[in-house]
Amino acid sequence: MSSRWPVGPRRVLVVGIDGVRLDLLPELRTPHLDSFAAEGFLAPVQVDEATPTMSGPCWATITTGVGVAKHGVLGNHLGGNRLDVFPDFTTRLAAVHGRRTFAAGGWEPLFLARSGGPLFAAPGRLSYIAPLEDTPEAWEVCDERVTAEAAYVLGSSDDDPQASFVYLGAVDETAHFLGCGEEYRRSIETADQRLGRLLAAVRSRPGYAGEEWTVIVVTDHGHLDQGGHGGRTDLERTAWIAASGPGITPGAPVAPLHHTDVAAHVYAALEIVPDPHWTLDGRPFRPAAEPARALVSSAVPV
Ligand SMILES: [Zn+2]
Repeated sequence: MSSRWPVGPRRVLVVGIDGVRLDLLPELRTPHLDSFAAEGFLAPVQVDEATPTMSGPCWATITTGVGVAKHGVLGNHLGGNRLDVFPDFTTRLAAVHGRRTFAAGGWEPLFLARSGGPLFAAPGRLSYIAPLEDTPEAWEVCDERVTAEAAYVLGSSDDDPQASFVYLGAVDETAHFLGCGEEYRRSIETADQRLGRLLAAVRSRPGYAGEEWTVIVVTDHGHLDQGGHGGRTDLERTAWIAASGPGITPGAPVAPLHHTDVAAHVYAALEIVPDPHWTLDGRPFRPAAEPARALVSSAVPV
């Protein structure tokens, strides 16, 4: 794919880990997430009143930067959506900005024309790896293969994706089958190890010293103790975002976050000023006391 604009040093990786409860993280061994809290931030997000606490609508909001009133994804069947008007960032960056983009994962509606999908309509490279069955064990194998594939692509100077989304689903599957007990906790720790391998792949890139990476890790919703979500309890509505990279000040309190901010920050991190016609609902991450425009004030209009 040729770029219509010169590709600068900026790169973005978004890692989506499905259904990770914020309240359990302090008890778990998650050194890679902990490093985000130290180098940037890890902060809560409340799924807004209009959005079902389900994977389909939440991932659509996270990756499009607009809420359900615009993207129209209201459940885990994505049918009736308006993703053609409000595409995910991997599709928009590839189509509008000539950027190399990449999306990988194993949940069908995100990647395949099934259940009203895909959410990721046309990234530059797409890796769908199916779980062999709908069980926690099969999803761990799936996430393992997704991680290996993504580590290969992210570490390669051939593909060199400027914006990527990697989806890990085993944690959510484990909660649905077994509740939020020991197996769920171990699955979160395993997801953190996979995050570490993705970060190691980025750092191993031949050109890494000359690149400026933003990494965002995000979950879509929480879970009830017995497993399950979709309701309006705090446990279900509480999600979180962690991020580090240019413009993110370590240790600074971050302004209240929304899921729509993820895509907005992806564009800002790539120094792309959103077209007003995109009508993004989110804003780039910013320190609590800083005006909203500060992170994009030096960006180059395209
Ligand atoms: Zn989910």
